[in-house]
Amino acid sequence: MRKPIIAGNWKMYKTATEANEFVEKAKGLVPNTDNVDAVICAPALFLNQLVTSAQSSPLQIGAQTMHEENEGAFTGEISPVQLADLGVKYVIIGHSERRQYFNETDASVNKKVHAAFANGLTPIMCVGETLEERESGSTGQIVETQVEQGLSGLSDQQVADLVIAYEPIWAIGTGKTATAEDANEVCGTIRKKVAALYSQETADKVRIQYGGSVKPANIEELLGMEHIDGALVGGASLEVESFVKLLEAGS
Ligand code: 13P
Repeated sequence: MRKPIIAGNWKMYKTATEANEFVEKAKGLVPNTDNVDAVICAPALFLNQLVTSAQSSPLQIGAQTMHEENEGAFTGEISPVQLADLGVKYVIIGHSERRQYFNETDASVNKKVHAAFANGLTPIMCVGETLEERESGSTGQIVETQVEQGLSGLSDQQVADLVIAYEPIWAIGTGKTATAEDANEVCGTIRKKVAALYSQETADKVRIQYGGSVKPANIEELLGMEHIDGALVGGASLEVESFVKLLEAGS
């Protein structure tokens, strides 16, 4: 049985003050249960304070990206060693916005996934197709390639511990959600690919999230699907009330 994981991706929203207010308010409201993993992926600037303030709560803290090297002359970047040292648990790797605006590729995603594991961080590896790719019928092929290249060289255990987020790019921030059936179909394709590359046992363990305009109104239907084990949520994770509703649906 896979444990659902609901992760908020705050992107470049909130000030440090607002981030603290969110966690303080969320502490009393987040369901205190072992049935769901509750994660906030915050801007790197606030990770230190959030790890501390979330300590006595079910909230876990994640980063939104990182560099693949442990250290070096990479001005402005943040390393996996630095994240792990803060007590950060998760890191989003290869979000479509990173691929689109910051030139991340399947090859760099693969390096970062390895670097995350080497430092005890759990990667949330993002895959997904553009609208053009969906309309041309190549969704399956696109995500299979992203999965194969992103996971290259990982062990069975690492893949079993990984989180994969399927985020169709056309559904991000647009209010257009993939239907639960469509999302489930692609998540099923991803699981099948993992089974082909590794084993059915490993594929049965890897958690696959759906992301793209997830909100309290559609979360239950999505989580009810066979291959959807959680959600990666942008807009609806910014308000405590809606984030808590998403967690309640997952718990
Ligand atoms: P929205 O939930 O705002 O569509 O964003 C999805 C996303 O990109 C999460 O990583």
